[in-house]
Amino acid sequence: MTLPEAIHAARRRHGLSAADPVVVLPAYRGRLPPLPSARRRAFTRHLAEAIAEAVGAPAAPPSRPEPPLASGLATLAGAACACCRGHCCARGGEHAYVDADTIRRVRRAEPGLGRAEILARYRAALGPEAYEGSCVFHGPSGCRLDRALRSDLCNTFYCTELKRFLRAQPATPPRTLLLAHDGEQARRASVHRIPVAAAPAAQRT
Ligand code: SF4
Ligand code: SF4
Repeated sequence: MTLPEAIHAARRRHGLSAADPVVVLPAYRGRLPPLPSARRRAFTRHLAEAIAEAVGAPAAPPSRPEPPLASGLATLAGAACACCRGHCCARGGEHAYVDADTIRRVRRAEPGLGRAEILARYRAALGPEAYEGSCVFHGPSGCRLDRALRSDLCNTFYCTELKRFLRAQPATPPRTLLLAHDGEQARRASVHRIPVAAAPAAQRT
């Protein structure tokens, strides 16, 4: 089935019209074995180095993440990433993009936090399994790491497909078809709907 055919079929299946926008996302697929101890140890080593650098060096000026999306679009983006299941996390490996700047930011939010507590918080977030070859925090329901502990990159990144779609939206569409496609075929589809109360008056019936 070609991509246009997959979009047409998904629209029909979900009762959408051609006027409802569609965003085609990557589709992450992977094996989900138990998280090996070697990967846990590798992440712990990386984290210990990041903490040592953050605690030992003078504080760098706070990084400036991109401004957050409007709330409706942020919710839509979250639904899109859930449909994709984290294709962009595949390079997270045993570092998860956590670095000294991340640790500095965590300590600015909680100034009393010591090395052992920081280590313990991150290690507690590691789950029993993680996608093979992907980030150690990449689990079956997405990222296991609390947003407060994630890197700025993880908290603000949107892939090209999603960013292009979000930027083209003057407001959150009432209904958006989310289609995860791996280049060969559509793997998943879902619909993001905004609640009626949040829709612009002209769109309510
Ligand atoms: S940003 Fe893009 S690649 Fe990453 S999880 Fe979301 S849809 Fe997938
Ligand atoms: S920390 Fe979370 S968001 Fe960042 S790469 Fe790993 S799984 Fe993805």
